[in-house]
Amino acid sequence: MEYRVLPHGGEKISVIGLGSASIHNADAAEVERTYDAAIDAGVNHFDFIPSESAPFEAMGRVLGRHRERVRIQVHIGALYGSGAYGWTTEAAPAIAEFERRLATIGTDYADFGFIHCIDEDADLDRVMNGGIWDYAQARHVDGTIRHLAFSTHNPHIARRLLATGAFDLAMFSLNPMYDYTDESEYGRGEASDRMALLQEFERAGVGVSVMKPFAGGQLLDAAQSPFSRALTRTQCIQYALDRPGVLTVLPGVRGEADLRELLSYLDATPEERDYSVLADMAPQSREARCVYCNHCQPCPAGIQIGLVNKYYDLALVGDELAAEHYRNLEHHAGECIGCGHCDSRCPFGVAQSERMGIIADHFGL
Ligand code: SF4
Ligand code: SF4
Repeated sequence: MEYRVLPHGGEKISVIGLGSASIHNADAAEVERTYDAAIDAGVNHFDFIPSESAPFEAMGRVLGRHRERVRIQVHIGALYGSGAYGWTTEAAPAIAEFERRLATIGTDYADFGFIHCIDEDADLDRVMNGGIWDYAQARHVDGTIRHLAFSTHNPHIARRLLATGAFDLAMFSLNPMYDYTDESEYGRGEASDRMALLQEFERAGVGVSVMKPFAGGQLLDAAQSPFSRALTRTQCIQYALDRPGVLTVLPGVRGEADLRELLSYLDATPEERDYSVLADMAPQSREARCVYCNHCQPCPAGIQIGLVNKYYDLALVGDELAAEHYRNLEHHAGECIGCGHCDSRCPFGVAQSERMGIIADHFGL
């Protein structure tokens, strides 16, 4: 497993986590087998918000065996009164459900307590002023919630929540379809604005856990994809993990077979992880822009081209840690020998060798 570090807190989070929206398709024994297998493989980050309440007891049994090894996202605002997932901004039922949920899964704390799925200003106003926000802050103070977090599909709402300075993690919908098309209400905002938001997350030290990395499966099926070509799970995971601020990707699984497919990402070759095919699929901005895909590797000077570009872009928007991250790299832009390999390989039309000179000048290295 590969791990990334939560900026506020320092916990190590597995790059592959698990969502739970599809796990109700498995019976209780398979739910347990799936989660046990995931934890054995090093997965340590789980979103506990299934589409139905049925899997909670099995999930709780797994948690009982592994509580210290895993971190869970628990949402304030999800309801399961009827057995199926529901949603509310009313404080009393949201709080009652949150507390019932912790009791059902047999724990007295949520590693991440979520302001749940807010996409509209009026809903956010109700959450912030109607009791849910006060409750979440109080539970954070008493340790029931270790980290405050939120989930949204809307960059504008994310920015309002970021402005509070109170959050350590955000769950955000992220995939190439949401970035490059307006085919879904879950992917609001232009690609450039969504990228700017991810840079703002990184600058604020707010980690991102990714929901809908496959656009609900649409990206995996040429017939359903707006690009008319299928991407693989591995390509979608790599795309999400290459965006600024992203710590972990949380796809849903229906059972152990789906889990095994996800985990194959860890053994995938650089070629299998390469998603530069997007250059032919997605409309690009007129300005050629590095998307950190690393299709132009290997660099004979050993420069990690995608990472160098990511830190440079973050530095330009005021991320104070970006320069330090850049300095910690083994090879820097100043070592570019101008061979032009990256220029000839880049499907996005980036004049990378020229850009290396600009980056070297910026960082003085
Ligand atoms: S220069 Fe092009 S190929 Fe290289 S990482 Fe950037 S977008 Fe990808
Ligand atoms: S031009 Fe520079 S950055 Fe690009 S592959 Fe050659 S040495 Fe590496």
